[in-house]
Amino acid sequence: MQTDKILLVGNPNVGKTSVFNRITRSNEHVGNWHGVTVEEKSKIITYKDKALKIVDLPGLYSLTVYSPEEAVSRDAVISGKGAPVLDVCDANNLPRNLFLTLQLLEAGANVVVAANMTDELNARGLRLDEKLLSERLGVPVVSISAKKGKSAFVVLDACVDRIKKKSRATLPYLETLPTEKLCGIIEKNANEARLNVVFAAVKLMEHDDFVAEKLNLSEKQLAEIAALGDLHAALVSARYGYIEEILDGAVLPLDKAPKTKRHKLVEKVKRTADRLALSKYFALPTFLLVILCVFFITFGTVGPFFSGLIGDFFVNCVKGSLFNLLTRLNAPDWTVGLICDGIVGGVCGILVFLPQILLLFFFLAVMEDSGYVSRVAFMTDGLFEKIGLSGKSVFTLLMGFGCCATAVLTTRGLEDEKMRKKTALITSFMSCSARLPVYSTIAFVYFTEFNYLIIFGLYALGALVAVAVAAVMENCTKKLKSGKPSFIMEMPPYRFPTFERIIQILWVNVKNFLLKVGTTVFALGVIMWVLSNFSLTEGYGGESDSIMMTLGKILAPLFAPLGFGSWKAVTALIGGVVAKEAVVSTIQSLGGVETLFVGEYAGIDALSFMVYTLLYVPCLATVSALIKETGAKWALFAVTLQLCVAYAVTFIVRVVALTFVNSPGLAVSVCLMLIAALISLFLAFAGKNVRGNCEGCVGNCAKCK
Ligand code: GDP
Ligand code: MG
Repeated sequence: MQTDKILLVGNPNVGKTSVFNRITRSNEHVGNWHGVTVEEKSKIITYKDKALKIVDLPGLYSLTVYSPEEAVSRDAVISGKGAPVLDVCDANNLPRNLFLTLQLLEAGANVVVAANMTDELNARGLRLDEKLLSERLGVPVVSISAKKGKSAFVVLDACVDRIKKKSRATLPYLETLPTEKLCGIIEKNANEARLNVVFAAVKLMEHDDFVAEKLNLSEKQLAEIAALGDLHAALVSARYGYIEEILDGAVLPLDKAPKTKRHKLVEKVKRTADRLALSKYFALPTFLLVILCVFFITFGTVGPFFSGLIGDFFVNCVKGSLFNLLTRLNAPDWTVGLICDGIVGGVCGILVFLPQILLLFFFLAVMEDSGYVSRVAFMTDGLFEKIGLSGKSVFTLLMGFGCCATAVLTTRGLEDEKMRKKTALITSFMSCSARLPVYSTIAFVYFTEFNYLIIFGLYALGALVAVAVAAVMENCTKKLKSGKPSFIMEMPPYRFPTFERIIQILWVNVKNFLLKVGTTVFALGVIMWVLSNFSLTEGYGGESDSIMMTLGKILAPLFAPLGFGSWKAVTALIGGVVAKEAVVSTIQSLGGVETLFVGEYAGIDALSFMVYTLLYVPCLATVSALIKETGAKWALFAVTLQLCVAYAVTFIVRVVALTFVNSPGLAVSVCLMLIAALISLFLAFAGKNVRGNCEGCVGNCAKCK
C-alpha cells in the first residue's frame, strides 16, 4: 500500500502536537514553550483504508528561518512535493497565524487550514465563519479544538481529500508588487535549484540568505533585482493588508452567547494573575513564593509522609522477609549481603522517592500547562539578555529541573550558535530530578524539619551558578560571546491545566524513573556492592581492603578540604557519574546515610556533599547529549569546567557555613549585606524584561503587548 504524507505546520504553541497526538493516538510531549518539538516526529496510521504518514514539525513564524529547528520545518514544506500541509492556526490569533499561511501558499504548498482552539474562541463569545474564510483563501478551512478531540478526524478527512487534488490559492496582493518581473529574472535559476519560483521571488524580497545562496544569481541578475528597489517592507504590509481583508467579517458573535458573567470573572482573575506574574516588583517574589510552596509540599510535608510509608514497607516487609528467608535457607553471608543490602537496599533506597518525584513533576506540569512558566521565561529575559542568553534559554534551563540530558537537546531551538553552546554547557548545573533522592535522603537526616529550605537553597544555587558561569563566559571568552538575541516569544493565555496532559507527563516520568531504577541503578548497585565488599586477597568480607575502598582512599584526601574525605562518600560520588541516583543507592548499600557524616560539623559536611553532588560532572546521558549538540571537545570542556566549579563553590559554601556557625554576629551582618545586594540587583533589572517591537509581529506577542 502506498503511504501518503501529511505535514503538520504552524506557529509555536498552536496545538500541532496536540492534533498529532489526537489523530495518531500518540503521547508526544505538548507544551507551552519552544523546543518541545525540536525535530520532526512521524507516525504511520491507517485511516479509511489509506496508509498515512503524519509528520509533526517544530513551530515557525515564517518561512524565513532563524534556527536549525525552524529549518527542519521549512525544508519539509519546500520539498513536500504536493503533500497536504495541515496548517494549524490558533483561531484566537488569526492575523498573526495567517501570516505563515500566506507564506505557505506563496511556496505553493497544498494547504489545509485547521483553525484550532475554537473552544477558547467560543468561550469569548465568538465563532469562525470557516466557509467564508475558505472561499476567500481558496483552500479548505476546518474549525477544531484539539483539546476536546472530537473534531480532529474532520481535519484528517479534509487532508485525505486533498491528497490527489491540489488547492492553489490566488494571492492578489502579490500583484501589487513587481513579483512577476522578479519571477522572470530568476525563473531559470529557481528551476535549477528546484525551488518554487514565486517562493524564491518572495524570499528574495525578504533578503533570505538561504534562497539567495541556492539561486546562485549572476552579477547581472543581481543588478536587475536591485533596480526593483527594496521590497521587504512593501511585501510585509501587503500581506497584513490582505489578511485584514480576508478576515473582515469572518469572526462572528456566537448565536448563543456563553455565560458571560462567569467568563468575565475568569478573565478578570486571569488578568490579575498576569499583572502579578509580570509586574515590575512582584514578579520575582511571587515566583519564589510559588516555588517555596511547591518545595514545602514536596519535601517538607506530603512527599516525606508517603516516602516514609513506602520505606517502611520495603525495610520491614521486603527486606525483613528476604533476610529471614535467606538465613533460614542457610544462604552464605555474601548472598544475604548482596540481596538485602546491595540489591534491595540500593533499589528500594531510590524507589521511596517516587512520591516526591511525582509531586515535583505534578507541580511543574501544572505551572507549564497553565502558562506560568512562559511568564517566568519572559520575566527573566532582561537579565538573560545581559549575559548573552535569550528567554528561550530559560526554557532549556527550566527543563533541566526535569532531566538535563533532554534539556540539552532543546538548545537546538536557539538561533545563535554561541548562545546554543553556552546554554548547553550551563544546563547541567541545573538540579535534575535524579539529584532529588540525594538531597532528600541527606537533608532529611541532617536538617530534619528545615530540609525543604535546604533543598530549595540547592535548587537556587544550581540556577545561580549556571547564570554566573554564563556571565563569565560572555565577558571573558570571545569564543562564547553571543550576538544580540532576537527573541520572539508568544505568551500563551492562562489555561486551566488539562487532566489528561498532567497524567501524561506524570506517566512518562514515572516510566522513565522506574526504567532507570530497574536497569542502571540496579546494575550499579550490584557492581558497587561487589566492589565495596570483596577484596582481591580475602574475598567476601575483606572490606578493609576492598577494591572500592582502596580506590576511595586514594581519592579521599582530595575531598578532605570539602569535609567529606571518607572513602564511602567518594565511592558514592564515583557511582553518581553514571547516574546521579546511584549516589544514594551506593550510600544505602554501604551502611546508610546516618554513618556517612559524623562529628561536630556533620551538618556542614552533609551540606558540602550535597552542593558537590549538585555541581560535579553531569551524568553519562547528559555527556552524550552534550557530545551530540556541541561536539566532543566542548563536552570535555563542560566536564572539566563542572569539576572545577563544583570544587570551588563547595569550598566557598563550606567556609561560609563554618564562619556562620562559629560567629553568628558576623553571619547576621553578612546576610543583611547579601540581602541588600540582591534587592538592588533585582531593582536594577526589574521591569527591563519588556523589550521593543519585534519583526514580523502584529503586536500580539508578549513583548509587544
Ligand atoms: P505546538 O507547539 O503547536 O505543538 O502546541 P502543543 O500541542 O504543544 O500545545 C500547546 C498548548 O496549547 C498546550 O498547553 C495544549 O494543551 C494547548 N492546546 C492545544 N490545543 C488546544 C485547544 O484546542 N484548546 C485549548 N484550549 N488549548 C489547546
Ligand atoms: Mg509541538
